[in-house]
Amino acid sequence: MDVLFYAVFAFLFGLCVGSFLNVCAWRIPRGESIVFPPSQCPKCHRPIKWYENIPILSYLALGRRCRGCREPISPRYFLIELATGLLFAAVYLKISSLNLPFRISVARLAVSLVVVSLSIAISVTDWEHRRIPNKLTYPAIIFGLAMAVAFPEEWRAPSRFMALGFACASTAFWGGIMIAMAYFGKLAFKQDALGWGDIKYVAAIAAAMGPRAAFFTVFAGSVIGTVGGLGLMVVRGKGPRMAIPFGPALAAGALLWIFIGHEAWNAYIALFRTP
Ligand SMILES: [Zn+2]
Repeated sequence: MDVLFYAVFAFLFGLCVGSFLNVCAWRIPRGESIVFPPSQCPKCHRPIKWYENIPILSYLALGRRCRGCREPISPRYFLIELATGLLFAAVYLKISSLNLPFRISVARLAVSLVVVSLSIAISVTDWEHRRIPNKLTYPAIIFGLAMAVAFPEEWRAPSRFMALGFACASTAFWGGIMIAMAYFGKLAFKQDALGWGDIKYVAAIAAAMGPRAAFFTVFAGSVIGTVGGLGLMVVRGKGPRMAIPFGPALAAGALLWIFIGHEAWNAYIALFRTP
């Protein structure tokens, strides 16, 4: 029963974080502060009262319209809140199912929830604005490095200093790989396939979850991006030169790592192990 109780708590906490991610994903690409002014209707600028700003419930209760100008409220807020809540609950259930030592569980839960939040926010900004803001990726990189110092056992390091070294090396290595991929990608395809935002996002994954997670994110993200891109081309009936943002595909790859990454990695390694 405890597990269920905490899963519901994680869901509710995720709804609130999702509400904050909506604010971040709307304001950061527009260069606005995320704390001031308080939320308002994007059309009539009527301030949104606290009871109109309760995740999910307000959207359903208000008839999906602004109470000032009757402008329909985009379902994006509702969907992002719901997705964040469900992912938070799923991450909690996944990690609690692993029966890890308490300290490791806490570390992995914190890292996974931050990566989920980052991934949702950059997916939205990249999809809408073709941008992955530094204001999202830089704090995530710093968070990842700080977690290595706080939980060196996650890096199998004998000291905090060594763990920080491993995390910095992981970040620099995957940042470098992504820069090389961007360079050769541009040579091969004569257009920018990878932006600096994608590079920093993968660096943040490498800082927070390690080099294997970054490898998996890039590999799975490329597969998802290619399949998704081809799917979109068919649906929209446009040619291959239509720019498709890579961020959401990478984000999907990082989420896959959280849920099935270790199992997929072990299965892959087992292929090369002689019985
Ligand atoms: Zn309004």
